[in-house]
Formats: sequence, structure tokens, C-alpha cells
Amino acid sequence: MSFTLPQLAFQYNALEPFLDEQTMTIHHTKHHQAYLDKLNDALKGLPDFSEKPIEELLINLDTLPEEKRNTIRNNGGGHFNHSKFWEWMNPPTGGENKPQGELLEAINSTFESFEKFKELFSNAGLGRFGSGWIWLATKDNKLSILSTPNQDNPLTDNSGMPILGLDVWEHAYYLKYQNRRAEYIEAWWNIVNWNKVTVDFNENNS
Ligand code: MN
Repeated sequence: MSFTLPQLAFQYNALEPFLDEQTMTIHHTKHHQAYLDKLNDALKGLPDFSEKPIEELLINLDTLPEEKRNTIRNNGGGHFNHSKFWEWMNPPTGGENKPQGELLEAINSTFESFEKFKELFSNAGLGRFGSGWIWLATKDNKLSILSTPNQDNPLTDNSGMPILGLDVWEHAYYLKYQNRRAEYIEAWWNIVNWNKVTVDFNENNS
């Protein structure tokens, strides 16, 4: 069995004008596919690991053969991160895009307000030097904003379960925004799929 590219729940042009069709097409069919190909290649001959959910591989990297560990960390992380990233976005609705209910209450009590949370999260994205991801993660019923390099994520360093993530690699925005990462991040808030984030929040909080 090998890992496969997940279908998107929307068309490649459905996130416009915030994310353009060409970026989405290349990001999904080329970048994500390349992580998958390298992950599947690294898992050849490792039947004990290739049958496991990707989350389990990333949480238990130290159980992998040492010569494969970095390749699986980078490309397994790439597969997990992008699979979630696609689900955490949806076409813009035009209205104010924000969470509700218990998730909003948890954000407000942790970060003062939703606006303050967005500011802290966006600043983490601007402050990430080079390539990486910004996360909203939960651990022991506590929310936190985390920043990881490369294709790492909160699972790879046991800092929580990610319930929202933003790809700040240049390949995620360069065609439309060039070097203007701040504009990309500002635009991305319009297409965050808060329904999916809420599902993930509920599944990982008691
Ligand atoms: Mn990416």
C-alpha cells in the first residue's frame, strides 16, 4: 500500500482572488505529489511502517531506520501538512470569516481576541525565516501558535496536534504575490475553512 494524493474538495480556481489557479494547480499536482513520491519510495521495503497512518509515522520518527528517518520526516511531513492544508481552506463566502462557539471562546481566552490571534499568527508567518509552516495547535486542551521549519509540524516535535496550518514556503504564494508574504497571509484569512478547524478542535479537546 502507498500513500496517494488526496482530491481537493474544490476546483483549482475556487480560492480566487486570494489564491490563484496556477499556484493551486502546481502546489497540489507537483509539490504535494513530489513529497508523496519520495515518501513512498523511502517506505519501500519497510512494510511495518508503510501500513501505518501518516500521523503515527511522524509522531514516532525515532522508531524509523536511521538512514530513512530524515527523508520520511521531510516528505511524510510534506504529505501530512499539505493534505491538511487543502482541508483547512475553502472558497471565500464574502462575509466575515471567523470561527464561532467553543473554538472562538478558546481563541479569545488564550489570545485576548480573534483579531489579536490573527495578528500573532500572521506575525509568526512573517517572522519564519526561509521555508516553513505556522500552526494553531492544541495540547492538553490548551491552544498555542507554533512555527516550524521545512516540512516539520507539531507532531514531529511532540508539541501538540495541529488544527490549522499555513504554508509559508515561497512556492505557496510566489506566482501571485512574489516576495510579498504579508499580502499572501492577509489574503489567506479569507479562505480559512473554520468549519474544518472546528471539527479538528473538537476531536482533540475534551
Ligand atoms: Mn507547500
